[in-house]
Order: sequence, then C-alpha cells, then structure tokens
Amino acid sequence: MFFQLTDLLTCPRCGPTHGLILLAQQVKDRRVQRGWLGCPHCRTDYPVTDGVADLRLDPAADRQPGPLLEEEDLALKIVALSGLAEERGYLLLDERLAHVADAVARLAPDLEVISVKPAPDGFRGGRGVSRILSEVRFPLVEYRLRAVAIAPAGDQELVAAAARRVAAGGRLLLFDAGDVDLKEVKASGLVIVAAEGGTAVAERKIEPKVGLG
Ligand SMILES: [Zn+2]
Repeated sequence: MFFQLTDLLTCPRCGPTHGLILLAQQVKDRRVQRGWLGCPHCRTDYPVTDGVADLRLDPAADRQPGPLLEEEDLALKIVALSGLAEERGYLLLDERLAHVADAVARLAPDLEVISVKPAPDGFRGGRGVSRILSEVRFPLVEYRLRAVAIAPAGDQELVAAAARRVAAGGRLLLFDAGDVDLKEVKASGLVIVAAEGGTAVAERKIEPKVGLG
C-alpha cells in the first residue's frame, strides 16, 4: 500500500468523513508492508499485512466477489479512456476489474492504482498498486480521485458510490454497463461523454454540490 494513500482512506465503519491514521511497522520504497490503520473515532484498528490493507468489517465472512470481467485489452482500454497514461494521480478499480491492476500500473507508471475487493485474491501489494480489502464501497474520501473504473452490470449502488469518488475534472469509466447504470451516472451529477456497447466514459465537470442529507 502506497504510504500517502493513507490521506485518502476512510473508516468503513464510520464513513467517508472519518480518516484513518497509519502506524507503519515496515515500509519499503514508500509502500507500507506491515502496520495498522487506526480510526480515531471508533478506535478500530485495521491491519496492513503483506502490503494489503484489510479494512473488512467481518473478515471471517465468506463474501464472494463479483465475476471478473474478461475483456480483450481491458487494461489498455482503462488507461486510454482514463486519459491519464502520462499523468500522476489515483485510479480506482472495482472488484471485477482488480485483476488487471498490475497491467494498468505497468502501462501508466506514474499512476497509483487502487483496487478494492471484498476478499483476498492472493495478490500482494506491488509497485504502483495499492490493494484494499473492503466490503464497503469505497473506504475513500469523496471527490478526490482522477479516475474510477467499474463494471456495474446494473448495480446502481456501485455506480453511485463510484461516482462520488470522482474529483472535479475526473472521469468515471464503466464496463459491462446498461441503461440503468448510465441513468445512475447522470443522477450522480456526471456527464456521459462517450458510450458504446457496454462501455461508457463520464466526467465530473463542475465542483460537486454538497447534499442536504
Ligand atoms: Zn471508525
């Protein structure tokens, strides 16, 4: 896990306005290999083991992740559609896209790729990839990421959570998305700039409005 990602992580129990504090026990090349992420609000300590931050509320639960999206040149498409091939910043992948995290990081070496999955997949935290385990989508501050890529397949809750993580000027990439997903994108205040087949690109054009609730 990238050391500075701590600034963006939030407590899955307390919500996106509650940040975490890092107690690093082992750091290598600015990546935390082992340590703890603590919430000052509810006092939960989440472990970082083998470079993977485990923010699961119930690690014992056998939660099955969604089916991996198998699509040709998926990593290449994610990098191209994000517009961030030569840029710095954070790009978030959901559980169905997490398997191409390393490929994305190789194609865009200045990006830090964040993958969030509900269950471990045997991958360790590698160069350019921060792996987070969490059932909660997503334990990250809102409106701060330059790109978020998801494969919702009708999961409007996922679309809404992903859209809320996109910074002003940032992009939401959708794969395996249907009409109901695109409707949710618009409802979330993003503008769809391209859509073909199940793939779409949306942008957050302006500063997000602060909700009343
Ligand atoms: Zn908390």
